[in-house]
Amino acid sequence: MKIPFNKPFLTGKETHYMYQAVQSGHISGNGVFTKKCQKFFEERYGFRKALLTTSCTDALEMCAILVDIKPGDEVIVPSYTFVSTALAFIRQGAKIRFLDSRSDHPGIDEEKIEALINDKTKAIVPVHYAGVACDMDKIMSIANEYDLIVIEDAAQAIESFYKDKPLGSIGHLSTFSFHETKNINSGEGGLLAINDDRFIERAEIIWEKGTNRAEFFRGEVNKYGWVDIGSSFLPSEIIAAYLWAQLENLEDIQNRRIETWNVYTKKLKDWSDKNKIQIPFIPDYATNNGHMFYLVCNSGRQRGELIDYLKEKGIHAVFHYMSLHKSEFYEDKHDGRELPEANRYTECLVRLPFFYELTSEQQKYIITILKNF
Ligand SMILES: *Cc1c(COP(=O)(O)O)cnc(C)c1O
Repeated sequence: MKIPFNKPFLTGKETHYMYQAVQSGHISGNGVFTKKCQKFFEERYGFRKALLTTSCTDALEMCAILVDIKPGDEVIVPSYTFVSTALAFIRQGAKIRFLDSRSDHPGIDEEKIEALINDKTKAIVPVHYAGVACDMDKIMSIANEYDLIVIEDAAQAIESFYKDKPLGSIGHLSTFSFHETKNINSGEGGLLAINDDRFIERAEIIWEKGTNRAEFFRGEVNKYGWVDIGSSFLPSEIIAAYLWAQLENLEDIQNRRIETWNVYTKKLKDWSDKNKIQIPFIPDYATNNGHMFYLVCNSGRQRGELIDYLKEKGIHAVFHYMSLHKSEFYEDKHDGRELPEANRYTECLVRLPFFYELTSEQQKYIITILKNF
């Protein structure tokens, strides 16, 4: 048996809607499908404003512009995350203060945030790793106390909740990814969600190359022109059409993925306890959105052996995230603090195959093989 790590799921309607978009004659951005997707997110998750972007990275870059990051400003970001979480702010000149992970979960250690705050701190960017919520009450109360902006990197967190609040609806701003490795995908794609009204008008301008085109088309101004900085952050209607097909099937996709996640958890619980291998932990205040299933091995060596062994058996398991504070690009700019948990996940975490079409037969095979390791 050969089992890939990921296989992007097609609902079957993607090309139909893409054809419709092409036939309509409007294939640039901000057309019918873009508006349908944005309305879907605003209504389902209560965002004050949703703007489709060409990636989560783009949405994070928009956040960095919106909160006016300037050279010398500091932004608090986890070390164990994807590059973009930090990169978007670096481009505006920020200094990154990296946070360690929790020992029970790769998400940020909320207890360590306050010690990193000083006069230059502008924002905190919590990442909901594996779609599991960070402790948002704690983070928002720190942010309120020190007057900081919270940007949720919810790239992996669609349809996940913190105490019944949808992730992405709690911070001032938040970002999602529709990269092909995420639950809902459009190949490449993303979303900026705005929960603080102060940012809405300017976000629309930054989104469309620094012009007030959106206001013009709503008839709010009588001509449109260049009014601010920005970029071409909006995706074409062809991408939005693809995404719409996925959103129409959101519940089906989520149900299937959560089912797959539950089987992994149930069947591997005793085995992981016995071998002291860590499996995903969901705090009481969080939900599971079936984004990924990972194991944390006892050592880097054990992880390497496990990946090789699975590969021999046709199973493609992968590891990810090299602590950003130790990256070639940032190591000499880092403040020197040790971040032992981030390093441990860097060395020991492995992700099992996880996708909509993973059959129960394939999953049974993976579990049996794992138990023989
Ligand atoms: C996938 C991911 C991103 C980047 O998303 P893109 O849409 O590829 O730009 C950023 N942050 C996290 C936590 C991610 O998982």
